Amino acid sequence: KIHSLNICAVEVVADADARVLPLASGLDDRLFEHDGQITKREVRALTVSTLAPRKGELLWDIGAGSGSIAIEWMLRDTAMRAIAIEASPERAARIGRNAARFGVPGLAIVEGQAPDALRGLLQPDAIFIGGGGSELGVMDAAIASLRPGGRLVANAVTVEMEAVILAHHARLGGSLIRIDIARALPVGSMTGWRPAMPVTQWCWIK
Ligand code: SAH
Repeated sequence: KIHSLNICAVEVVADADARVLPLASGLDDRLFEHDGQITKREVRALTVSTLAPRKGELLWDIGAGSGSIAIEWMLRDTAMRAIAIEASPERAARIGRNAARFGVPGLAIVEGQAPDALRGLLQPDAIFIGGGGSELGVMDAAIASLRPGGRLVANAVTVEMEAVILAHHARLGGSLIRIDIARALPVGSMTGWRPAMPVTQWCWIK
C-alpha cells in the first residue's frame, strides 16, 4: 500500500485457511467448536489467569463443555497436562475434535459424570469447575483430590451454583470475584451496552 508520506508497506496475503494463533489466553470463541455452552472469551482469560498454570502441571477441567479451558491451559506450554471430564457424550467427542484442531492431542478426556468419573484420576495441581459443581459430592471430591498447595477455581452462572460457592467461601476462605461484562451493540442508529450474565468466581488454595 502506498501511504501519503511516500512510505511503501508490503501487504502480506495469507492463505484463506491459515490462522496465526494469538499467544495470550482468551481466544476468540469462534475458534472453538461449541454449542453455546462455552466460557466466553473474557471470562476464560480471567479464569486461566486465576488457575495460574505452571510448567508441567496437571489440570482437571470438570464439566469441560467444549474443552476451552483445558485447551487454553494446554496451550501455555508443551509440558502442560490436563484431563477434561464431561458428562455429555456429544460434548466429550467435541472436546476431542477441539483438542486436535488446537494441536493439543495430549489432552485426556474422561466421558462421565463427576464425582464418580473423578475416581482414580491422577492427582491434579489445579482444578476448574465449570459444570456439575452444585451436584452432590462434586465440590467435596474436588477439594479432597486437589494436591496440597494446589488451586481450585469454580465459576458460577446460576444462583444454585453461586450459593454453593458462597457457602464454600464462608467456610474455607479464598477469594471471590464477580465478573460483569457488557458488550456495545447497535440500538437503532446508536450504540448501547448489553450486559452478559454475571459470573461469580471463587478461588481457593488448598
Ligand atoms: N467451561 C466450558 C463450559 C462448561 S458448560 C467451556 O468453556 O466450554 C458446563 C458443562 O458441564 C456441560 O457441558 C455439562 O454437560 C457439564 N456437566 C454438568 N454436570 C456435570 C457432571 N456432574 N460431571 C461432568 N460434567 C458435567
